[in-house]
Amino acid sequence: MLGLLKGDTLFRLTQKIGSWFRSADVTACEVDYTVLTLEDAKSRETIRFDDSLSLINRDYHLSDDDVVFLDYIDNAAMSHTIYEAYGQLVDAVQEKYGKKLCIRSGYRTAEEQQSIVQTYPSDIAAAVGTSEHQTGLSLDVYIEGSVGGKINRSRAGRFVSTNGYEYGFIIRYPYGKKDITGITYEPWHIRYVGKPHAEIIYMNSLTLEEYITSFYKAGIFYEYGEYLISRQEKSETIMIPSGCESVLVSDDNTGYYFVTAKKERKT
Ligand SMILES: [Zn+2]
Repeated sequence: MLGLLKGDTLFRLTQKIGSWFRSADVTACEVDYTVLTLEDAKSRETIRFDDSLSLINRDYHLSDDDVVFLDYIDNAAMSHTIYEAYGQLVDAVQEKYGKKLCIRSGYRTAEEQQSIVQTYPSDIAAAVGTSEHQTGLSLDVYIEGSVGGKINRSRAGRFVSTNGYEYGFIIRYPYGKKDITGITYEPWHIRYVGKPHAEIIYMNSLTLEEYITSFYKAGIFYEYGEYLISRQEKSETIMIPSGCESVLVSDDNTGYYFVTAKKERKT
């Protein structure tokens, strides 16, 4: 019996039990905000735009005009959006476990995704235009000696699952959620969504599908720690909370913008 409870199985079990005891409370709140035109918002220095909360799946496809700015670590290509955060995750794994977190597959072009689709079944390889690898926001990672499904057999690999959120990463296709994501459990496929979203997703055991489309009521603001979050239907204007030190606007690819603002530190 104990023999069955080793490695990955035991990890999944402890993760499942852990999920009953952890949660992240996000609360609706009133905030002062200014309504800006998109053009105006794009011209402000304190407001950045990115695609870190873009939902890509069989229902929400990539658009042809998405351009990915690439950066490289060990010859693996990834979106510029995730470069810094991924480097921090690599450093943390190295520092804590003395192991190297490596990339098996990073950014892929449509042509590269097509050749993978021809090799693997559809619950493993996403169709062209529905793979996050084409955004450069996702990476298939491994720890030296623990590749693919074996990643959870290594403590360093399990750290990626349990602490990746501290660096803005989630396990995009969690165990037991294939009915929602369409993809079987992939402990090696990490996706950058940024802070504090990764933490809220992990603590509440959500899929990105649930988080993007149904976790928030659109058009209002929520508070989580030092962050303000709001999901707003795309239009000519956008509500930006006042008095924040930085604001990030992410197109979620479902017709909405996520506004994530970090409240100014009181000195
Ligand atoms: Zn992958």
